[in-house]
Amino acid sequence: MRTLNELIRPNILNLKPYSSARDEFQGSASVFLDANENPYNEPYNRYPDPVQQEVKNSLSELKDIPSTQIFLGNGSDEAIDLVFRIFCEPGTDNVVAIDPSYGMYKVAADINNIVYRPIQLEEGFRLNAEKLLEVTDDQTKVIFLCSPNNPSGNSLERKQVCKLLDSFDGIVVIDEAYIDFAAEPSYIAQLVNYPRLIVLQTLSKAWGAAGIRMGMAFASEEIITLFNKVKYPYNINQLSQEYALRLLDQYREKDRQMEVILSERKLLAEKLLNLPFVKKVYPSDANFLLIKVTDANSLYNYLSQQGVIVRNRHKITLCEGCLRVTIGTPDENKQLMNQLSNYKP
Ligand SMILES: *Cc1c(COP(=O)(O)O)cnc(C)c1O
Repeated sequence: MRTLNELIRPNILNLKPYSSARDEFQGSASVFLDANENPYNEPYNRYPDPVQQEVKNSLSELKDIPSTQIFLGNGSDEAIDLVFRIFCEPGTDNVVAIDPSYGMYKVAADINNIVYRPIQLEEGFRLNAEKLLEVTDDQTKVIFLCSPNNPSGNSLERKQVCKLLDSFDGIVVIDEAYIDFAAEPSYIAQLVNYPRLIVLQTLSKAWGAAGIRMGMAFASEEIITLFNKVKYPYNINQLSQEYALRLLDQYREKDRQMEVILSERKLLAEKLLNLPFVKKVYPSDANFLLIKVTDANSLYNYLSQQGVIVRNRHKITLCEGCLRVTIGTPDENKQLMNQLSNYKP
């Protein structure tokens, strides 16, 4: 069994992080002459809180986890990149991931020169833990899972996920970008049992704030300390922090929107299945539907010409003939159905 220190790149383990003005002095004072800021143009002349304490306090309450176990990034994509930079030695280490899944894991692996081992999901996009474990070796630092999974929409089977968590002695990342749309509970509650687990969530989907770029990682305090060591000192800007605070305060509004989106998902799935050229609508725990059609490229082009843009997933593993359709407003979904009813394959 490898220790956490054995999983960390030696240069990161020994890294002395940058210490910013706002790191060195915290608290209240009346004259701030420590950060070479322009004294005019309040309040945005000031550097933001490097650890985003207020946003984390709010998340801590919402997610029922200490704020010391939360990292905030410039989108989840920052957290994904940091996982590589903290744990994976370029040119030596590898990661294992499910396939098909979110494209950024491979891009981040390629940028960091880490071997990426995709393992095909089973029929119905099901996870087989044994199959993933078989391709791991001493150089495998991280396993990437995504549940509910993008682009398939299903949640991974809990028994299989726990089997991986129990058997793999490296880092397991579970990307929960779509967790608010799922019937399943979050793996955040499992962090007490699995100290090498990293759970990713985001404000980009259910929270409706893709524009402010804020992703979250939940993990042990030790792992969060590593994230903080390696991240850019002021990785979340002041405007995003302020907006996130207001947004998290209005979580009831998000819950209300979720109800509409979930009922639209059910409605749209039923309507789509009635169309002669729709062969399959995959079960979804997310805010999109993966559908198999008779000719994905032709349908994609037709919809684009009508001004309705969906995602063509025809070339993705196990997704031949598939389009991925995001659930929109009731009106947008009606427009989609109108266009589809006029389609001649
Ligand atoms: C959309 C999405 C994200 C979100 O990324 P951000 O950088 O936070 O916007 C993360 N993971 C998956 C699987 C996604 O589909």
